[in-house]
Amino acid sequence: VIEIGQPEHSVITTCAYCGVGCTFKAEMRGNEVVRMVPWKDGKANRGHSCVKGRFAWGYASHKERILNPMIRESIDQPWREVSWEEAIAHTASEFKRIQAKYGRLSIGGITSSRCTNEETFLVQKLIRGGFGNNNVDTCARVCHSPTGYGLSQTYGTSAGTQDFDSVEQSDVILLIGANPTDAHPVFGSRMKKRLREGAKLIVLDPRRIDLVRMPHVEASYHLPLRPGTNVAVLTALAHVVVTEGLADEHFVRERCDWDEFQDWAAFVADPRHSPEAIAELAGVPAEDIRAAARLYATGGNGAIYYGLGVTEHSQGSTTVMAIANLAMATGNIGRPGVGVNPLRGQNNVQGACDMGSFPHELSGYRHVSGDETRQLFESLWGVSLDSEPGLRIPNMLDAAVDGVFKGLYVQGEDILQSDPDTKHVAAGLAAMECVVVQDLFLNETANYAHVFLPGSTFLEKDGTFTNAERRIQRVRKVMPSKSGKADWEITLDIAQAMGFDMHYAHPSEIMDEIAALTPSFAGVSYAKLDAEGSVQWPCNEKAPLGTPVMHIDGFVRGKGRFMVTEYVATDERTGPRFPLLLTTGRILSQYNVGAQTRRTENVVWHGEDRLEIHPHDAEQRGIQDGQWVKLASRSGETSLRALITERVAPGVVYTTFHHPGTQANVVTTDFSDWATNCPEYKVTAVQVMPSNGP
Ligand code: SF4
Repeated sequence: VIEIGQPEHSVITTCAYCGVGCTFKAEMRGNEVVRMVPWKDGKANRGHSCVKGRFAWGYASHKERILNPMIRESIDQPWREVSWEEAIAHTASEFKRIQAKYGRLSIGGITSSRCTNEETFLVQKLIRGGFGNNNVDTCARVCHSPTGYGLSQTYGTSAGTQDFDSVEQSDVILLIGANPTDAHPVFGSRMKKRLREGAKLIVLDPRRIDLVRMPHVEASYHLPLRPGTNVAVLTALAHVVVTEGLADEHFVRERCDWDEFQDWAAFVADPRHSPEAIAELAGVPAEDIRAAARLYATGGNGAIYYGLGVTEHSQGSTTVMAIANLAMATGNIGRPGVGVNPLRGQNNVQGACDMGSFPHELSGYRHVSGDETRQLFESLWGVSLDSEPGLRIPNMLDAAVDGVFKGLYVQGEDILQSDPDTKHVAAGLAAMECVVVQDLFLNETANYAHVFLPGSTFLEKDGTFTNAERRIQRVRKVMPSKSGKADWEITLDIAQAMGFDMHYAHPSEIMDEIAALTPSFAGVSYAKLDAEGSVQWPCNEKAPLGTPVMHIDGFVRGKGRFMVTEYVATDERTGPRFPLLLTTGRILSQYNVGAQTRRTENVVWHGEDRLEIHPHDAEQRGIQDGQWVKLASRSGETSLRALITERVAPGVVYTTFHHPGTQANVVTTDFSDWATNCPEYKVTAVQVMPSNGP
């Protein structure tokens, strides 16, 4: 089914699924892919791949793909196919009409971590330069925005500190809220290899992920903490480091702000932060917390890897800062084998954030209020830029419900399915006068759209992705765009139709502009990427071939900054009506909401999402394995089938979110990270009861 003939030629390109960024040789017959072969020289994957990248590319030719632009007067009208010219002209005139009627700030846009750096850069340029405001956000809002905040505060920039090769020199791996063998399989394999060679593993996760115990790998400590208690446990780990004299004082004096360290050390040393004090709250034995802290602090090179189990909490940013503190206090930063490494779920989360698609930051994480930075962009773009931060995604939806935000351009993102509190998202979208969705399929958000612009897959365009280790890699066009335009060309056309002068003949010219405006990309060009295969930013005069490990001689902000991280319980509470805590995650064969992988052969490996429930909780409720159950929370309810397992602790249930029928976000709350509004997907109080199915 997968192979359709012998290849005639091949093109090297980069996987469009997870943040590992595997490179592949796309073997072609005419304009059709015959097979995807993992590229042996790929620096992120070294000839390996997982079932997603290797087999799940067929969605590009799926019959449900929309290939012609469509418009409709209102969302209860049928779609009407139109020419590209009409669709672009209609989009531009609607956005201009709305701004004339409701003001400059009444429209905005959302870009995607699935798109290339160049496409993301153009969307934020269109919004800042063409719309005249900073109402731009990215789907990183709902995953790694706390990484951006937390690492910027402590280290001065928002990025993983290490390259993937670094894991080969790690002696102790502290894995927090991440499941690499499912979500980042190729890097998960490298981690597994290092563990088989003898490195020690500590896992902080409410669920017993595979790495806790598998053939030839066993975690030294699994701390199955109660969802929502990350900060309490990390502060308790720090308490042990400080009170048992395990801090690396030499490193801290040399590299960090000593006064801030002392304030922080006094804070964590308080007995209320001891493992004994928080053991009951976290549901983890105090002696395991003590032993894990000792191992991380004294076991040699200690490396921290984390995922969305850290960020998608009301204290997501605080958790990232607690992690950064721990690494600094133990001197585990600034050399190979150590560091703090967010594992990015989507292929270009790192890049989307780097490119300035946040409402408060221009590319390279520079605040929009900075006069000097703004002037640099203004002189190149020939427009005045707003110095006030714009609206984040949830604020755009709130403003729409309030009747003051009326138009939205959504590139490559299904906010109705991905964002929390589905009813509120729907109400916000329904209140707008012009929603423009640019995507491959008629997704759930498109139900509320007035214009649909058919996007292009990664196989149909040129550009770059930046993976979780800051590695910038080429995406190469292997076939013509099936809809006639690559995504960057669509954004360009909208800008021109709105009277904002943008001209590029090829994405390489967009990268040249990114390099001219962004110090950490100053040395990046397509010629260099083609010659070197890839480079890791910062790539500039000081580091012309890039930077595998960051913060070697000093932190980006100068001295490392310790931040006091007070644990604050989430407002989401269990009680008699909703006594269990729901948390969520991914599975190997599927990707996010499944829009692509469900439209490939991979669907046979994971036909539905199941609700994992502990045997004790199942028995109490009379639930049998495989039986349909109703999952209800204060926000809503959905149905799925039960999977009885001791992977989850009593009191905790777990599901994946790959199938639209599951509607996990009907259940999740609207609580979010205090600093970034990243939704608290990982903690929802629920009840589970037998049902007859949906
Ligand atoms: Fe590699 Fe991730 Fe793609 Fe799998 S999904 S092939 S691990 S980039």
